[in-house]
Amino acid sequence: MTNGPYDVIGVGIGPFNLGLACLTQPIRDLDCLFLESRDQFNWHDGTLLETATLQTPFLCDLVTLADPTNEFSFLNYLKQTGRIYAFYAVLLDTDNFFVLRNEFNRYYRWAAGRLDNVVFNRDVEEIDYDEASGLYRVTCLNTKMDQRKTLLARRVVLGSGMVPNVPEACEPYRDGVVHTADYMRHREALRSKASITIVGSGQSAAEVYYDLLGDIDRHGYRLNWLTRSSRLVPRELTKLTLQMTTPDYADYFYALPRPKRAALVEEMKAIFQGINPCLINDIYDLRYRKRLNGDVDTMLMSNTEIIGCTRDEATGRFQMTFLQTEEEKPFALESEALILGTGYRFKVPGYLAPLADRINWSDNGRIAVARNGSIDRNGGEIFIQNAEIHADGYLPPDLGQSCYRNSVIIREVLGKPYYPIEQSTAFQRFSAPESSTDAAFSAGA
Ligand SMILES: Cc1cc2nc3c(=O)[nH]c(=O)nc-3n(C[C@H](O)[C@H](O)[C@H](O)COP(=O)(O)OP(=O)(O)OC[C@H]3O[C@@H](n4cnc5c(N)ncnc54)[C@H](O)[C@@H]3O)c2cc1C
Repeated sequence: MTNGPYDVIGVGIGPFNLGLACLTQPIRDLDCLFLESRDQFNWHDGTLLETATLQTPFLCDLVTLADPTNEFSFLNYLKQTGRIYAFYAVLLDTDNFFVLRNEFNRYYRWAAGRLDNVVFNRDVEEIDYDEASGLYRVTCLNTKMDQRKTLLARRVVLGSGMVPNVPEACEPYRDGVVHTADYMRHREALRSKASITIVGSGQSAAEVYYDLLGDIDRHGYRLNWLTRSSRLVPRELTKLTLQMTTPDYADYFYALPRPKRAALVEEMKAIFQGINPCLINDIYDLRYRKRLNGDVDTMLMSNTEIIGCTRDEATGRFQMTFLQTEEEKPFALESEALILGTGYRFKVPGYLAPLADRINWSDNGRIAVARNGSIDRNGGEIFIQNAEIHADGYLPPDLGQSCYRNSVIIREVLGKPYYPIEQSTAFQRFSAPESSTDAAFSAGA
């Protein structure tokens, strides 16, 4: 690994930057390097339950939607590992088929192991800009050797992800609670508790509830699941609604006045944050089966927000106060274990501090993301892969968007497209037609 200058340094190797590493690997004119703080690729490994599946079709892999002939496709992984015929048979009789997340993690690791532009054990600590050379200086710690190195780059792509979201009431007990992001590391220990409470109702919370409900009669714990949502909201998986993740919709979104965009963001939550509908039904069916031998000790409650939390030092038990928000009625609940399924949030990475003056900020202190994914004032030097959807940034976390996003970044870096960038992929229009001919053409398109 030289000091550069590289055309691009990518910070963090999750699926988005791993995809960029795969897509830039064959481009001779580009010299890229991707740095990851952990010792190997691992995709949300604390959540990898045996039965957990993707929420998106497997074509959301690292490369296929940009270049189906690229060697790093999921299908090529299956071929190279001798599993493609077995996979073909799996597809035969399954409606609504989603690949196991464990399998996708193995695929990602397989791809990472074949790339020579990715480096692990490199924690990026600081990025600053050298005016004289016009280069970014990326300082990283080699966590194995405990040595620092500064690398140079013309552009940087930030793919360092989100952080687990902890409700304010639980913040003082951050070390004692278990976020679903770490569930697998605590799974066995949790089973020995007398009572377990899950707060929040995204996909991960539902997966954890299902897992714990499965063993409830064997271990005899009391299992509570409470959520602020008005019900267990299913993820919108209908095909036309999913088009709100398309570039066409992003164009429409960016052209709207800011107050409209701010209001729309709230509506987006159901699309990206709900639970797979089949898992909701599986939970119902499992509860029904458990009831055959006499009911199990579990409580499920919506419209319920955690507003207070203390922990008894002697017993380690959590004493929580919840508010039933429709009845406006508080109540107390005690539990030996507390699991937070309260999602993830974007936190401005500390390593960006020296670059504050080069970044576009929105007036609420968030990073403003341009339509091409850049966040710098020159509009094409610092890119970001995921930074939550907000009024000044429309970056759906959908893996199906990673190839498009990476193709755009590559186009911006090269100054011309390398992978075709489809202009119109939605079967519907979002903005009003300019004229009646425009409307007639679109309706028949
Ligand atoms: C449990 C779960 C399941 C999901 N399933 C799906 C799905 O099925 N379909 C879908 O479309 N979306 C899914 N998502 C949403 C989204 O696609 C994923 O969160 C995805 O992992 C985001 O990828 P990323 O590359 O942006 O970041 P991450 O995957 O979060 O990766 C960021 C990486 O950056 C590294 N890093 C952080 N800081 C530094 C630093 N300073 N220096 C070096 N490295 C650093 C981290 O160690 C990490 O490896 C899921 C999300 C979760 C939480």
